[in-house]
Amino acid sequence: MTLQRTFSIIKPDAVKKGATGDILHMLQHAGFNIIGMKMLEITKQQAEGFYAVHASRPFFNSLTTFMSSGPIVVLALEKENAIADLRKLMGATDPAKADSGTIRKKHAASIEANAIHGSDAEETAKFELNYFFAGYELAG
Ligand code: ATP
Ligand code: MG
Repeated sequence: MTLQRTFSIIKPDAVKKGATGDILHMLQHAGFNIIGMKMLEITKQQAEGFYAVHASRPFFNSLTTFMSSGPIVVLALEKENAIADLRKLMGATDPAKADSGTIRKKHAASIEANAIHGSDAEETAKFELNYFFAGYELAG
């Protein structure tokens, strides 16, 4: 197996409640190598660009308002099978349906304010990493 990269966001709800450290710990404990990390606040327009694939969904306006409501932590992660393994560690989108031991089970408040984002495929990981990181910012 070769190393794979994925992209993650610790969402505003999790940053606000002080869960950043615990989520970073859970990621590292699961074997993810953090190769890029920064805290920033994005505009509604930047959130719309990031979530463009969801533009026609009924929750798009609410989601992009939420994602621009406070600081987030963006992460570039590396690991074997990183994309699928991160999705598994995150748990279901709706925390009520998330398995125990997952990040969302522990930290998500609702289906929208669900603590963490993770890329869902190789192409989206590439787009999302490039959206937030320049090549020189990644530790490789
Ligand atoms: P993410 O893309 O953030 O990793 P996901 O892949 O589990 O999450 P998506 O279906 O891609 O879920 O939805 C993107 C995000 O939109 C969700 O994480 C959540 O914040 C929000 N969302 C999804 N479904 C709903 C909904 N029914 N109502 C409100 N917000 C929703
Ligand atoms: Mg998704």
